[in-house]
Amino acid sequence: MRALQMVDWNHDPEFAEVSEPDAGPGEIVITVGGAGVCHSDLHLLYEFPAGAMPWTLPMTLGHENAGFVHQLGPGVSGLEVGQPVAVYGPWGCGLCPACARGEENYCQRAALGTPVAGLGADGGMAEFLRVPGVRHLVPLPDPLGPVDAAPLTDAGLTPYHAVNRARHLLTPGNTAVVIGVGGLGHLAIQILRSTTYARVVAVDVKSEALYLARSCGADHVVPVGDATAGGIRELTGGRGADAIFDMVGSDDTLGLAGATVAVNGHIGLVGLAGGSLPVSLLGLPFGVTVTPTYWGTLPELHEVLQLAARGDLCAHKVTYPLGRADEAYAAVRAGSLLGRAVVVP
Ligand SMILES: [Zn+2]
Ligand SMILES: [Zn+2]
Repeated sequence: MRALQMVDWNHDPEFAEVSEPDAGPGEIVITVGGAGVCHSDLHLLYEFPAGAMPWTLPMTLGHENAGFVHQLGPGVSGLEVGQPVAVYGPWGCGLCPACARGEENYCQRAALGTPVAGLGADGGMAEFLRVPGVRHLVPLPDPLGPVDAAPLTDAGLTPYHAVNRARHLLTPGNTAVVIGVGGLGHLAIQILRSTTYARVVAVDVKSEALYLARSCGADHVVPVGDATAGGIRELTGGRGADAIFDMVGSDDTLGLAGATVAVNGHIGLVGLAGGSLPVSLLGLPFGVTVTPTYWGTLPELHEVLQLAARGDLCAHKVTYPLGRADEAYAAVRAGSLLGRAVVVP
């Protein structure tokens, strides 16, 4: 079968002919129905130093996956061939207390870089994907299909988890700011809109992204520029924002978050741009929490999919056939794509 692979560090992805996976004991092979193109893949492909992760290349890309059960390995039960499923991406050990709570994204035994589909192990940019156990699959609630579900497994789940960490602050009268209205950011706005009472402010460089933010339910949009911080302060009566979700994570965006967060506020750091925010007693408002988060939990993925099934969460998508998956990556890299690119093999 054809697969789009990471072949080397600081290198364009390339198509390769690879053998179809076969489900071993306990494993499941799914027919990929949708695989999202994530901006973090671009950091990985083009910015990480060679060997930054302990992975063997080449590796098939794609860590946002959903599809249909194709083959059940020996000993697998509880699923039927043809059943639509989403793949929960962060695979932990399954045994530690964090994994027992469904928080495999914070597994106490899996280090960052432990191979999961599309991040160290072969991912969903191919016709078939091998999943090592039923624990990593979530049956899709009706009427959700794999094309809609795929981007939600990361671009939906990650902001949902970040929002959950600040939910106590997202009350009527309080303000949430989403910095960066890309694949994750436009879904963060929908999640804030449909599951909290906070006023939602979106910040982005591009006017099309701010238009998308409006259509996703943002109450206010603020373009990036000299007046951004002042604009957020003005919208909050000078108090600052109660929760800020930084979907970019650069020095600039973290600086903006630090300059506009309210006393006792929260900064959720989601974006992988590698920036930093100095912490000092008088450098940030008192009581501020800064929380870098990684992906989300298995119970949260169930909730995200339910939210989508009832019509409250839907990725703005551009779909590509597998044969043009390389173009999808190029479009995301060029910044010319709004919302999420989803490869449909
Ligand atoms: Zn991702
Ligand atoms: Zn674990």
